[in-house]
Amino acid sequence: MMEPDLVLVGGGFRAATFLASAPELLAHRVAVFERGTVFGPGGFADYAITSTSIGSRFLKELSATGPFAALRDDPLVARVAGAESPVPMAHLATALGRVGTAVAAALGPGRLALGTEVAALDVVEEGSAVLVRLADGRTVRSRNAVIATGRTERPHAELAPWRAKVRRSAQIISRSGRDALRRELAALGRPGGDGGRIVVAGASHSAMSVLRVLLELFDEIRTTDPGFRPPAVDVLQRSAARLVHPGLAEARRDYVEGRERAADPATDVCPETGIVFRDSGLRHESRDLYCALWDGRIPGARLVRTGRLAEAADLLDDAALVVQALGYHGHAPDVLIDGRPARPSGSPERFAHTDDGTALIAGRPVPALSVLRVEPTPYALRDHAVYGSGLYGRLAGRLLARLEADAGPLAAAVPPAVAASPPPSPPSSPSPSLPQEIAV
Ligand SMILES: Cc1cc2nc3c(=O)[nH]c(=O)nc-3n(C[C@H](O)[C@H](O)[C@H](O)COP(=O)(O)OP(=O)(O)OC[C@H]3O[C@@H](n4cnc5c(N)ncnc54)[C@H](O)[C@@H]3O)c2cc1C
Repeated sequence: MMEPDLVLVGGGFRAATFLASAPELLAHRVAVFERGTVFGPGGFADYAITSTSIGSRFLKELSATGPFAALRDDPLVARVAGAESPVPMAHLATALGRVGTAVAAALGPGRLALGTEVAALDVVEEGSAVLVRLADGRTVRSRNAVIATGRTERPHAELAPWRAKVRRSAQIISRSGRDALRRELAALGRPGGDGGRIVVAGASHSAMSVLRVLLELFDEIRTTDPGFRPPAVDVLQRSAARLVHPGLAEARRDYVEGRERAADPATDVCPETGIVFRDSGLRHESRDLYCALWDGRIPGARLVRTGRLAEAADLLDDAALVVQALGYHGHAPDVLIDGRPARPSGSPERFAHTDDGTALIAGRPVPALSVLRVEPTPYALRDHAVYGSGLYGRLAGRLLARLEADAGPLAAAVPPAVAASPPPSPPSSPSPSLPQEIAV
C-alpha cells in the first residue's frame, strides 16, 4: 500500500472508539498497528471483572453515521451502549471487538496490522513526518501518528525488597491467568496448612477488583475441596478512601469518620455534575466491597492502615503472595526526534499533550505526533467531567485539517512506504532505504 497519512499506534479501546467517532478521517489512508491479535478490546479483553464506569460511557463517542451507522443495532454493542450500570468486562470486550471489526472494514484492505509491535516513533523532516519503527526492524513513514498504547503497572520501588513474590493487579484479575491462580491459591490453603497470607498493596478500584477475584476463587476452591483454608488477606491502605457521592449533601450525610476522606467543596466536587470524587472515588461494587472490608464484614480479610509500605514490612515478609495495586503509568513507545532519543518509553514523567492531543516533547508541541488518553487522568483534574470530554472531537478536527492540507503535495510525491531499518534503539544514524511493500 501507499504510505499512510495517519498511523494509530495501539489498537485497543481508545484507537477503535476514536476512529469510530470520526468517519471523515477514514477518507484518508489510515493504518492501525496493534501488537496483539485483535483490534478493539485492548486491555479489557483479559479483565475478568465488572467495569467501574457504566456501559454507555464507553461507547458514547460512536458515530451514528457512515460505516458505523449499523453498529448501534448490533445487539452485542447495544447491551453495552445502552447500559446505565457497570457491565461485565467480557461484554465490553465483545462490543469493542465488533467496533474494531467495523473500523477495520472501513479502513480498507491491508490497513490493520495485527501482531505488529511499534518500538519507537521518530519525528523527522523538521517535524513534518513520523518514522514508525517496528519491533521487527521495519520502518513505516507517515505524516501523522497517534499514540494509543494504553497503560501498564510498573514495578513499585517500595515493593522492591519483596519483588520475587509480587504480582501486578492486572495478573490477578486476568481471565487467562485465572486457572493457574486458582491452583496456586488451592496449594496455599492445603488441608493441614495454616492457609498463609496474601497482602494487597493499595485500596483503590484495582485493589478492590483483586480482592473480589480472590474471594471468588476461594469460594470456587471450597466447592471442590471442603478442607481448603483460604489465605488471610491484608489490604494495605496508604491514604483515606474516597467514595463517590451524587452530591455534596449526600457526601456530608453519609460520611463515616475513619472510613473515608471528607469531601472538600473546593477540590472534590465536579463543577459540571456536582458529583463528589467523580473519578477518583470508589463506586458501585468496589465501594460496597470497601465498606464491607472497613466494617469487618469480610471473614479472613482486613484493612491495614499504613503510611509507607515499608511500615508494613512484617506483613510483607510473612506473605506468600503480594499484589501490587498502586496505579498505572502510560505505556508509549520511545520517541525520537531526528534519530535522537527525546522521550524514553519508561519516562517517569507523564506524557504531556495539549487540549487537542498534540504531543508535547520537552515542553514543545509536536503536531505530527498525538497522544490519545495514554496517561491516567492528571491528579488535579480527575474529578472534573471536563477533563477528556471533547478530546476526540478536537483531535479529529486537528488531524483532519492536517490531512486535508497535506492531500495535494502528498499525492504528488509519495516516497517508499516501508524501508527496512536497523533496530530502533538507539537509532543514531538515518536508516538505509530498502523499499519493500508491507500490508498495513
Ligand atoms: C481493574 C480496572 C478497571 C478499569 N475500569 C475502567 C472503567 O470502568 N472505565 C474506564 O474508562 N477505564 C477503566 N479502566 C482503565 C482501562 O484500562 C482503560 O481505560 C482502557 O483500557 C484504556 O484503553 P486504551 O485503548 O488506552 O488502552 P488499551 O485498551 O490497553 O489498548 C492499548 C492497545 O495498544 C496495544 N499496544 C500497546 N503497546 C503497543 C505497541 N508498542 N505497539 C503496538 N501495539 C501496542 C495493546 O496491545 C493494546 O491492545 C480500568 C482499568 C483497570 C485495571
